[in-house]
Amino acid sequence: MAVRIAIVGLGKIAQDQHVPVITASPAYELVAIASRSAGLPDMPHYHDIDAMLAGDVAIDAVALCQPPQARYDAARAAILAGKHVFLEKPPGATLSEVEALAELARAHGVTLFASWHSRYASGVETAKGWIAERAIRSVTIDWKEDVRVWHPGQKWIWEAGGLGVFDPGINALSIMTHILPRPFFLLDGTLSFPSNCQAAIAADLSFRDEAGVPINAAFDFRQTGPQTWDIRVDTDDGELVLSKGGSVLTIAGVLQDTAPEAEYRGLYDRFATLIADGASDVDVAPLRHVADAYLRGARVMVEPFED
Ligand code: NAP
Repeated sequence: MAVRIAIVGLGKIAQDQHVPVITASPAYELVAIASRSAGLPDMPHYHDIDAMLAGDVAIDAVALCQPPQARYDAARAAILAGKHVFLEKPPGATLSEVEALAELARAHGVTLFASWHSRYASGVETAKGWIAERAIRSVTIDWKEDVRVWHPGQKWIWEAGGLGVFDPGINALSIMTHILPRPFFLLDGTLSFPSNCQAAIAADLSFRDEAGVPINAAFDFRQTGPQTWDIRVDTDDGELVLSKGGSVLTIAGVLQDTAPEAEYRGLYDRFATLIADGASDVDVAPLRHVADAYLRGARVMVEPFED
């Protein structure tokens, strides 16, 4: 039987990816929307998740597509109501709240899925397999995009808990924590804060893995012109480059065949499998690196940001 699922927060990602992927999948039936400002034609609509959970539409699962600061209360309410929960990335605004949710889901016997869409980019699994058989010398990440193009008017991203440039940067971290063979940790970093914002607009980060391999990451929201979402892994057998957010893979200068983009289909297939298996998947590793950067990085003040 199809999972009856509702979406909470009908913003950009919900409209671009969740709605089309859910409605195209036989594993799901989209049954309701909770949004303060938007709805879908002929679809039951509620102002917020509490009204939806108190309503009369039968729901098995919810996909939480709000900004991270709003995620915990909604997830908690859904779990207490016995619903399976799909968390957009990042899974919350703090590590502690996500860990509390994982425990709550376990206690209530529902599935909690902390989704990391970039791990489903089409080059990622091949990259992971190739890297596993080589000796890594260094890793370089350039994740640079124009915030005015990709996040226009998103005030939440500049507020505490909104992550700033780590909102896209955490996608790189989700790939790195998936494909690199050993744990890595921050040595030092510099975070640039616009003088009128609570979150960083750029970050330069130096990590090292357990074997001493250097990993350097540059995240920047001020990139105009060509946009860059690249991970370069230098090995004893040539360089591997994951570009365009993980969808394009080049090994030793040779472009590899990759499947068409299907990140959110991969996420929803995984969520359906977790529900069927009575399991959860809550990996906080990418969020932990963001917390470490805000904890360990030096801060510099830069010019104010105006959208
Ligand atoms: P968005 O366009 O600003 O939409 C967020 C929606 O959440 C809003 O439309 C709002 O909708 C709802 N919401 C509920 N509580 C809110 C609050 N306290 N403050 C602001 N909005 C609130 O953001 P988005 O780009 O869709 O991103 C949402 C989440 O998805 C973020 O965690 C982001 O990292 C993740 N994500 C985004 C993208 C992307 O390309 N944009 C890609 C992957 C993941 P209502 O009026 O419907 O209540």
